[in-house]
Amino acid sequence: MKPGVLRGRLAQLAAQHLQRRRRTVTALDRGEGAGVVVDGRRLVNFCGNDYLGLKQHPALAEALARCAALAGTGSGASHLVTGHGLEHEQLEAELAHFTGRPRALLFSTGYMANLAAVTCLAARDSRIVMDRLCHASLIDAARLSGARLRRFAHGDAGAAAAALQSAAAPGADLLVSDGVFSMDGDLAPLPQLAQAAAAAEACLIVDDAHGLGVMGATGRGSLEHFNLDGEAVPILVGTLGKAFGCFGAFIAADTDCIEWLLQTARSYLYTTALPQPVAAAARAALAVSMAESWRRERVLELAARLRRGAAQAGVPLLPSFSPIQPVVLGDSARTLAVSEQLFAAGFWVAAIRPPTVPKGAARLRITLSAAHSEQQVDALIEVLAAALHELPASPHAAA
Ligand code: PMP
Repeated sequence: MKPGVLRGRLAQLAAQHLQRRRRTVTALDRGEGAGVVVDGRRLVNFCGNDYLGLKQHPALAEALARCAALAGTGSGASHLVTGHGLEHEQLEAELAHFTGRPRALLFSTGYMANLAAVTCLAARDSRIVMDRLCHASLIDAARLSGARLRRFAHGDAGAAAAALQSAAAPGADLLVSDGVFSMDGDLAPLPQLAQAAAAAEACLIVDDAHGLGVMGATGRGSLEHFNLDGEAVPILVGTLGKAFGCFGAFIAADTDCIEWLLQTARSYLYTTALPQPVAAAARAALAVSMAESWRRERVLELAARLRRGAAQAGVPLLPSFSPIQPVVLGDSARTLAVSEQLFAAGFWVAAIRPPTVPKGAARLRITLSAAHSEQQVDALIEVLAAALHELPASPHAAA
């Protein structure tokens, strides 16, 4: 590459207000819920994925430390060489039980679990039909598989069924959706997608990274919310770094499918196993999430409170009852400016811009946590409404 090319591209990103900036969390502010210290400034974090407020739970830290003292920090190898330990084995059994599936397989990240689910089940002659707003890792997985990818209009099960029915492929068909959409917070029409998949003899894969732990009467996720079992949704992907406050991910499915993934998934075979202390912490998180059901109720109540307050203050939110409550502003520059204003007032709500979201759909992705207080939620709405008023949309705004 010629010298200066990357500098030019970076300058272009900055000019389009699409340059990302990392903020360094220097401490946790233990005084109040979801508090962090960033660059010496105390802030309330309203854009993480710690929906149940488990990230700082002492039971998780204790489990992690206890396991590290016994088993060491790293796993030392991949699962199939020497890296698979008792904590992994037990966590897999508990996740299988939690999701009501015969077996579960751990992955180091949700990104890698999605790569495995799609690439191991699709062949080059397969067709993958996917919601347009599926997570980037699912899109990457479909591209990597070499199968033909068709993306349907967001949340439109009729369009999914039509895509599955047209031009049948010789290989297996996959229908793929998030359970709760990460940037919109809405639920996929899973019962209708399950019907479309069954009618076309396609396999339905649901990535419920943002639903597990939160949705459903007992926190078993979007599938529980819709009362769907393993027959309707054969492949379920879950993560441990969001509601469960840890790190890592898993796929839950039938025994043959899990064995096939274990034998063939490159993102499983060719990487170091998740550290056992992390698996131990995830086991503690699962137990706490089930024992303390008030966390789930609380985060959903706070989401409802935010919606009531936003409606009164004229702050437009996307329709969602999950802990993800986005304010779509469209224009990246304005979204960034409002985010900066919130930051200055002590609220951390990142500006989510393309390519994470479609062009012209930049947004503030507000997320709630059981660790937030009612006062924090009310104060956020007040500051946000004032910021939106002070920084009105420009009629000539670009994406
Ligand atoms: N799926 C979805 C829907 C996600 O939002 C994310 C993370 N943002 C992932 C998968 C990837 O999970 P992980 O962070 O564990 O790689």
